[in-house]
Amino acid sequence: MSGPILPGATLGMFGSGQLGRMFALAARRLGYRVHVFSPEADSPMGHIADREFVADYLDLDAVREFARSIAVASFEFENVPAATTEEAANFVPVRPGGHVLAVTQNRLDEKGTLARAGLPVTPFTAVRSIDDLLSGLVALGVPAVLKTCRMGYDGKGQVLIRSLDEAIDAWTALATDEAILEAFIPFEREISVVAARSLEGDFRAYPAFENAHANHILDVTLCPARLTQPVLDEAREIARSIFEALDVVGVLCVEFFVAQGGRLLINELAPRPHNSGHLTIDAHVTCQFEQQVRAICGLPLGSTEQIRPACMVNLLGDLWSGGEPDWSAALTDDGVRLHLYGKSAPRAGRKMGHLTVLADNLADAERRAFEARAVLRRA
Ligand code: AMP
Repeated sequence: MSGPILPGATLGMFGSGQLGRMFALAARRLGYRVHVFSPEADSPMGHIADREFVADYLDLDAVREFARSIAVASFEFENVPAATTEEAANFVPVRPGGHVLAVTQNRLDEKGTLARAGLPVTPFTAVRSIDDLLSGLVALGVPAVLKTCRMGYDGKGQVLIRSLDEAIDAWTALATDEAILEAFIPFEREISVVAARSLEGDFRAYPAFENAHANHILDVTLCPARLTQPVLDEAREIARSIFEALDVVGVLCVEFFVAQGGRLLINELAPRPHNSGHLTIDAHVTCQFEQQVRAICGLPLGSTEQIRPACMVNLLGDLWSGGEPDWSAALTDDGVRLHLYGKSAPRAGRKMGHLTVLADNLADAERRAFEARAVLRRA
């Protein structure tokens, strides 16, 4: 096998949003060059990249030109078409591989693969017709959640079904020919484990992050998660099994529900760094984006040790409703770290940035992060 891809080389990324931007910042710090490919011009990652390739993902001539300009490719958006990564893989390694992308692009394939590997997933069934839905509701019980298999994120493409009477409306609303029905889990907490695996098979996981969502969008992340050590250890070991079962080289996030009694159920996978891992930029020895650079380049992985308790709060476009947020007010607390993604249009629900606060304890970090976000909003 050839050696690692060393600083000075050019790294390629499919997708140009904030995850790509933070990857590019980490890669640049390590002395790499970065090229980005996406259909969007003037993008969050494009602002940081050495070169921005703007083309449709299925423009394979453009994909070839991009692939010839880089030493390795990764993706920060999991809905990149398979044909795109397959074409790139004719020229350079794509990490994680297209097989990981394929499994995580379809919720049924994802849950089916994990269940066959003996891993704990939310009870589910495939739905391709209203009859499937009705029998699924009888088998799993209500409430249940019906989700599109593809392209769902931040709660888009999913409907909560509270009774059998709601089945027809839910099936019509989803307007799809393939869906997954999941038992509704009355979870006590939601957590995520972001981890990395190197070419040699070294596995490093961050301590689990505890997540709270608002309107299905991640709102707050705390680390360390407020769970017992055995539950945290089990989450890490499940993540390790997933990396091995899928042969992941790179970074991947496993989202879990923690049900009654600390029982862990896998909700979904993201084959890339994750919003819940943003606090690693400030709170951990190696951040998730540097870890992604190291993993895809074949370098040794960095320490995932946490330096101080931390809280991250997302900044959505809604905060701009009264005009430009009051950045100075939030930064009055000198422990607040502000991260903005360079997006010019602050639409409601759009992730524009985040704040991270490190403190001596989690409660203090959380309180100060909420206070800093509250003073941002102008009346
Ligand atoms: P997802 O897009 O699957 O990550 O779902 C977004 C959010 O919806 C999750 O983080 C949960 O808060 C909620 N959710 C999704 N599926 C379920 C489920 N089966 N039971 C309970 N809550 C769910």
